[in-house]
Amino acid sequence: VREYVKDYIRHNGLLTLSVLAVITGCVLGFTLRGLDLSTQAKIYFSFPGELLMRILKMLILPLITSSLMSGLSSMESKACCRIGVLTVTYYLWTTFIAVVVGIVLVLIIKPGYGTHTESSRLGGGQVITSADALLDLVRYDCPKKICQVYKTDIIPIIKPPVNTGRPNFVYLMPDEDNPKGRTVLLELTPPPDIDKIMIKCITIKSTFHLGLLLGKMGERGAPLVNVCQCINECVMKIINAAWKFPACNWHVTLFCVFGVMKCDMNDPSTLGKKLGWYGVTVMAGLFVHGLILLPFFYFILTWKNPFTYIRGLLQAMVIALATSSSSATLPITMKCLLENCRVDRQIARFVLPVGATINMDGTALYEAVAAIFIAQVNDYELDFGQLVTISITATAASIGAAGIPQAGLVTMVIVLSSVGLPADDITLIVAIDWILDRFRTMINVLGDALAAGIIGHLCRKDFPPDRAAKANGAAQD
Ligand code: ASP
Repeated sequence: VREYVKDYIRHNGLLTLSVLAVITGCVLGFTLRGLDLSTQAKIYFSFPGELLMRILKMLILPLITSSLMSGLSSMESKACCRIGVLTVTYYLWTTFIAVVVGIVLVLIIKPGYGTHTESSRLGGGQVITSADALLDLVRYDCPKKICQVYKTDIIPIIKPPVNTGRPNFVYLMPDEDNPKGRTVLLELTPPPDIDKIMIKCITIKSTFHLGLLLGKMGERGAPLVNVCQCINECVMKIINAAWKFPACNWHVTLFCVFGVMKCDMNDPSTLGKKLGWYGVTVMAGLFVHGLILLPFFYFILTWKNPFTYIRGLLQAMVIALATSSSSATLPITMKCLLENCRVDRQIARFVLPVGATINMDGTALYEAVAAIFIAQVNDYELDFGQLVTISITATAASIGAAGIPQAGLVTMVIVLSSVGLPADDITLIVAIDWILDRFRTMINVLGDALAAGIIGHLCRKDFPPDRAAKANGAAQD
């Protein structure tokens, strides 16, 4: 028995600690809430958790940049196109399926039926069409000023943020706000809108890589590719170290997770019966999508056991639950894919960063359910056309949502506005959003990771297994 326990701890120690830490963090968080701690005490309690979050967030930008660059540049151009098309098609398809699952469940369960509230102000909102929502994904200065809540800006114009006064990712362009133009390399702590930077990075790096391919630079481009590969190796090593440090120490892990968990607890006193049913609907949808449909897709496309694969992702799922941020979880997801799931490195380097930015199945499902719930609360009958509009805008809004806590709540304005529902009624669902956010983030992370496994399998001819094993072996060394 001792041998078995030792062996178990050696292989699963980190994971067990993380799970226990999350459970203890939850219990402690709920217990201490009753004690009415001072703000100062809360800050002290949160500090270790904040530290872990900051380390993870700090690594996102170098990880994404170097991953995409080195992942893409070492592929043949044909393989590159095939993988790109497959990835984006798969992501859109699964997000749309998630939305459909959410819509079907909310129409069957009817969580908001018969609960008209005084706060409803139907018709007051600005109506934004699905076309507006989709167009806003690629440009900033939209005529209806939707961008005030929803500025994704896929094709970026690199310039300093005008209002924040905060130094941003490299900016060089002189303009009226910045007459001389100046270069400021990235801050150590990324700003909260990191996802916008991520999506810009993807565009920039893909374009850059296309340049490398189209210009047939070959040997001349190799030094840059090598630099990126080195940065990527370094970042992965830092992630290993950063994660082992708190995880080796029970107390630090405990307080890391406690700190992260306790930060955004809302008073659940407003949690009414209907809100409870709304929560049940979202959770049921996440369960059906994440643990039935996605594994089913994995199974039929790869003929492998999806649950063995998911077992390798548990650590990332626990971190997603603890942090509510798929961007902050990205480094751990990458680690799990390479070390536990043995996904080809190049595939993981491409599919994961793209997924962390545009693929949020859990968020899309939740946005659709929440919009229809708000309509039901307002006794507002949605026709088929409006349901289609919700499905399109929920998909688009999830693509635009940042991988940070409760970002979906912000982009949901676009879904509500598209069918004329009052954006203010978001306040109806805020009370339980902190908990739903944790579970939808888990599904977001799971969706990206399963996609990497599927794309890796479908493109295995481009990356024979012996090469993948060799590459992953090198990563572990
Ligand atoms: N917290 C989610 C994520 O990071 C986004 C959201 O749905 O709010 O993936």
